[in-house]
Amino acid sequence: MLGMVLRSIGEPLLVLEELPDPIPGPGEIRIRIEACGVCRTDLHLVDGELPNPKLPVIPGHEIVGRIDALGPNVPDLAIGTRVGIPWLGSTCGTCAYCASGRENLCDRPVFTGYTRDGGYATSAIANARYAFPLEKKGSAAALAPLLCAGLIGWRSLRFTGNAKVLGLYGFGAAAHIIAQAARKQGRQIFAFTKPGDRAAQDFALRLGASWAGDSDEKPPEALDAAIIYAPVGELVPLALGSVRKGGSVVCAGIHMSDIPSFPYRLLWQERKIVSVANLTRQDGTDFLAFAAQNGIETRTKTYPLEQANSALADLRAGRLEGAAVLIPPQDY
Ligand SMILES: [Zn+2]
Ligand SMILES: [Zn+2]
Repeated sequence: MLGMVLRSIGEPLLVLEELPDPIPGPGEIRIRIEACGVCRTDLHLVDGELPNPKLPVIPGHEIVGRIDALGPNVPDLAIGTRVGIPWLGSTCGTCAYCASGRENLCDRPVFTGYTRDGGYATSAIANARYAFPLEKKGSAAALAPLLCAGLIGWRSLRFTGNAKVLGLYGFGAAAHIIAQAARKQGRQIFAFTKPGDRAAQDFALRLGASWAGDSDEKPPEALDAAIIYAPVGELVPLALGSVRKGGSVVCAGIHMSDIPSFPYRLLWQERKIVSVANLTRQDGTDFLAFAAQNGIETRTKTYPLEQANSALADLRAGRLEGAAVLIPPQDY
């Protein structure tokens, strides 16, 4: 197999390596990868902002592919089935969080492309019980961003309850999917971008936002809730200042720069700040069904696998409209 490998933290670039084909163990499947999305979490991994990664590691946790080998004890999946492999690689099933329906907070989790090798590759191994069967049809590149930007975006949207007027801070891969989902649910979207990023603001308006502006602007009316997708701590007090009494600010990223201090009056009157961590399999099942039923579409820019470093650089620089997706060689 081929993989784009992060050899150690501090190495600026992933390296293309030829590796032995992996063999699935008990309960595992091997996927021949059709596409793998590029997520901001991959940048945090490369930058050393996530503790204790497996090293060397192949990043990537928005995998779409077909099963080409089964380990022992995989009763429910067949060779040739198209599956999606998300960030949540497996959980222990026995800790207090797993036992109470919060496997996203498991004490002993495995994360794809972080503590086990991921999808910047031609093949990957996954735990069969954490794979989502996908529709056979549809472009793999279009499906890939649903596996994290979509799933974790969906969980963050759930955390806003029945908010009707919703602010989205940062209009990248997750927001471009969740804006569509929120519109389908009849919510109103106000989109906030990096000051002066007219391209992102236009993109948000095309996807149904009723207003788009700079992150330091006040929206035309108070927000019922806000979701912060950009990894920028300064946005927390800005968003708090724009939500109405009782409203929530949901921080959807795995890493964020420090949140500056702010006056208590921004939080007063039962405003809430909450973070969203990982996903449960139920989030995945619910969101993938919703996306299929409601025709959620993704905007992607595809790159050959060996150009993963360019994709990461474009994401870092904010040059993408929608999501970057890697396509490995299909004849390898
Ligand atoms: Zn657990
Ligand atoms: Zn992700």
